[in-house]
Amino acid sequence: MSRKRILILYTGGTIGMIQTERGYAPQKEAFHQLLDAIPELKAESMPGWDIIDMDPLLDSSNMTVKEWNMIGRMISDHYDAYDGFVILHGTDTMAYTSSVLSFTLRNNRKPVILTGSQIPLCELRNDARDNLITALMVAADDRVHEVCLYFGGKLLRGNRAVKYSADDLIAFDSPNYPPLAEAGIEIRYNTAALLPPCEGTFSLQTLKNIPIGVIKVFPGIQFELFDGIMTEKLKGIVIETFGAGNIPGSADALLPMIRRACENGTVIIVCSQCHHGTVTLGAYETSAALKSAGAVSGYDITTEAAVAKLYYLFSRDLTREGIMQRMERSLRGEISVQSMRTADRSGGMP
Ligand code: ASP
Repeated sequence: MSRKRILILYTGGTIGMIQTERGYAPQKEAFHQLLDAIPELKAESMPGWDIIDMDPLLDSSNMTVKEWNMIGRMISDHYDAYDGFVILHGTDTMAYTSSVLSFTLRNNRKPVILTGSQIPLCELRNDARDNLITALMVAADDRVHEVCLYFGGKLLRGNRAVKYSADDLIAFDSPNYPPLAEAGIEIRYNTAALLPPCEGTFSLQTLKNIPIGVIKVFPGIQFELFDGIMTEKLKGIVIETFGAGNIPGSADALLPMIRRACENGTVIIVCSQCHHGTVTLGAYETSAALKSAGAVSGYDITTEAAVAKLYYLFSRDLTREGIMQRMERSLRGEISVQSMRTADRSGGMP
């Protein structure tokens, strides 16, 4: 079997940072030198790889739609030339980027693995080396056909991952979906959890800079404060509710606002502040009202994936009904409800 070829995209983040007078900052040349000094990366048993740097390299807190499109384009431009892709990325917004790519890389059947580290590669004790080596191995594995996030021994579906620790080396979790693989002495794949390869031709959906918002409710929240921003300019809102989709004082301030927003054409997605479990609109009086006002359930979607999915669907110029329908269906395994692929196989990749 010929040796697999992987393209590494270095976007920035702690993994490649070095200590400067102003704190850790990404530094291209220094990172390349550090990579050259790792003999394992040239081992016969490793896939061959090339590396491209994003310009400029970023702390991932500065990622925007523009960089998501740049990353998507780099993958799309090299899609046929490589067997898999590793995206080196800062941890802070990695789960957003992995969610975005899971949607924008339409009909993707190759491994696209995001990874990074909590400690830079330049430090003696670091998690960068292992995360990078294992991510390269996963990117060369024929069983993986989707966008994933590899970190601290776990391979997670990209649109199910959340960063849950600012300082642990196991910094990511996938609370509503099992890991796709766990790297112990061996890399053990959970084949039943992996997406099958999709049919159809690969294409990139670039994103538009859609105005969307996220509101997290809390006891005593004064919804009137949001009145001014709930205009027709706002295309989508993710509401992080309590528990299974509950909001405080539903009858008073929020519902008329939601009703008005829906009339303005805004799509409202209800997520839960609980990491584990799902939104069930209508289970309680306090959530039934949301549904009747026109909001749609995000089920067990993460806020990261809900934001990414809104960007993706609005960028495709679908009707509001088309967007709402797709928000309540699984497009890439991001929620635990019936998949759009099994619901409607006729229209290609939704
Ligand atoms: N601020 C960094 C980033 O997200 C943190 C990291 O990479 O761990 O780019």
